[in-house]
Amino acid sequence: MAESVLSKENLYPKMIAEIADYAILLMDSEGVIQNWNAGAHRIKGYTESEIVGKNFRIFYTETDRQNGKPNQLIRIAKEEGRAQDEGWRVRKDGSTFWGSITITAVHDEHGKLVGFSKVTRDLTERRQSEVELKEHARKLESKNRELEQFAYIASHDLQEPLRTVTTLTDLLAKNYADQFDEKGQQMMTYINQATGRMRQLIHGLLDYSRIGRESTLTSIDLNELMKQVKEDLSTTIQETKATINTDNLPTINGYEIELRMLFQNLISNAMKYAQADNPPVISISAEKKSNHWKFAVSDNGIGIPQEFQDKVFLIFQRLHTKDEYEGTGIGLAHCRKVVELHNGNIWVESIPNKGSVFYFTVNSNLIKN
Ligand code: ADP
Repeated sequence: MAESVLSKENLYPKMIAEIADYAILLMDSEGVIQNWNAGAHRIKGYTESEIVGKNFRIFYTETDRQNGKPNQLIRIAKEEGRAQDEGWRVRKDGSTFWGSITITAVHDEHGKLVGFSKVTRDLTERRQSEVELKEHARKLESKNRELEQFAYIASHDLQEPLRTVTTLTDLLAKNYADQFDEKGQQMMTYINQATGRMRQLIHGLLDYSRIGRESTLTSIDLNELMKQVKEDLSTTIQETKATINTDNLPTINGYEIELRMLFQNLISNAMKYAQADNPPVISISAEKKSNHWKFAVSDNGIGIPQEFQDKVFLIFQRLHTKDEYEGTGIGLAHCRKVVELHNGNIWVESIPNKGSVFYFTVNSNLIKN
């Protein structure tokens, strides 16, 4: 059997000719195409005999040609040795593809420019998925803004009728209470409790939709911030006999009012969900990671069963009735929104009847969106 023997000089052009994923071609110093490979045929649609001798400007859109893009790329390749670009290019049938190209100047042994090599990759699919992803993110963002706006307007407008109901029940209690029998009095008490709770929920929702609305990014010494939080919570700390241990905390870039609310919510919860005969012991620590801070707030409270550990961060989600523990189920949703404002995550690890550790991260290179 006759063996085909290819010399090194023959093997190299053959290898290039058969590469199908990249269009690889040689142009003279004016951009006239000298040769063509399988990849060029596949990507651009022309056969070798149709294209050799034509100028490479043929691959550019009308607008790019009018703007002088091909000339500009040749000039850069001449001056700097190489020019790179990404953009829409035109196939033989007039359709377009997203090409990533590199044009490299080729010189003879005396250093004289003899032409250019040009390598093109078809990245249409990647480009399309990038565009789709961006569009998806844009839609999500706009939906999110719409929802926040909705929550804000709804909670704001709900205050008005609630005020009217409260005023009327106050008037009823003041002017007609002596005409009610015991059952009627009891009903009045229930109405007052229900409107009070509704007020709490509406305020919670209003605060929730306000998070990050008008805040400014500043440098915050968290040791100072913790001092203020402890002062604000001093009555509950005394009542519950809580011990709060804080490591030396860092100074970080963040949104101060929101961060104070975050620590305050986590510490209040740690005191509220304490075990009956065990005063709360709460520890707060921070750890520097590559591009974020990781914080931990731990307690020795009642804990959260595994199956509810994700749920507790959803708005209005509670694990207890309001008779067992007061609350609206908004606190941890607030915390999550504040953490997300700082490009971070929040999660909890917990063992029922032993305690919980709430972890959250804060991006250490935060810039305002
Ligand atoms: P609220 O305290 O008003 O119910 P949160 O959103 O702050 O609302 O908390 C949601 C639920 O998560 C609480 O109802 C409680 O069951 C649980 N939880 C929160 N913090 C703790 C904690 N430190 N220990 C045990 N359970 C907790």
